[in-house]
Amino acid sequence: MRDVIALDGPSGTGKSTVARGLAQRLGFRYLDTGAMYRAVTWAVLRDGVDPEDAAAVTELARRTRVEVSMDPDRPRVSVDGQAVDREIRTPAVTVAVSPVSATPGVREVLVAAQQELIGVGRVVAEGRDIGTVVAPAAPLKVFLTASPDARAHRRSRQDGTTDHRSTAADLDRRDTYDSTRKHSPLRAADDAVHVDTTALDVNEVVQRLVDLAMERGIGERSGVGGVTPEPPPA
Ligand code: C5P
Repeated sequence: MRDVIALDGPSGTGKSTVARGLAQRLGFRYLDTGAMYRAVTWAVLRDGVDPEDAAAVTELARRTRVEVSMDPDRPRVSVDGQAVDREIRTPAVTVAVSPVSATPGVREVLVAAQQELIGVGRVVAEGRDIGTVVAPAAPLKVFLTASPDARAHRRSRQDGTTDHRSTAADLDRRDTYDSTRKHSPLRAADDAVHVDTTALDVNEVVQRLVDLAMERGIGERSGVGGVTPEPPPA
């Protein structure tokens, strides 16, 4: 857990862009856990399973192969060997992902997979429960926030929509679902650093997190921030 950075927060806070930028700066791998929940949700819809049917959804999650590439320059996700990068961002998946990710059996399967992927570290992992459940021993946990208006604007831009009101309503619906679910609700870890991104651009947020990582001795061995990497053992 030495070089693990946990990045949590609701959507529209710039989490994914910041996580990738931070991983690039530190030379770390990048793990998008939301993409994994979306991938299982895509499989649920593919197979015509009811997203609210916990037993069927759990059974499907257990036999579905979700694979992710952890390269921050080219994050990729596939389901049973099929690339689904675009498919997991459709409105249908975005609506169904809340009940699917609230299913305890799904979380059990994906959290175990995420912990294995994080492995020995050198990774920036983003999601809703990284600091609280997936990697509670991470030496740096960050919780990103932003005003509802800023979040809706960012999400609209990302989705290429001008329907600001319905984007805001969708964010609100997902926040409520994610924060009030019984199992692993969206919550900041007690020792998380809160960063409000409302008035900051991506580079400013990334720089703040690089500074925090340096202060905690994270990533020093990669030579980031002017620190010389350790020579290889003789
Ligand atoms: O990050 P993204 O918006 O793609 O996540 C999609 C959904 O996946 C979230 O709304 C949430 O319901 C779920 N999720 C989760 N735990 C995570 C990451 C995402 O429950 N660690």
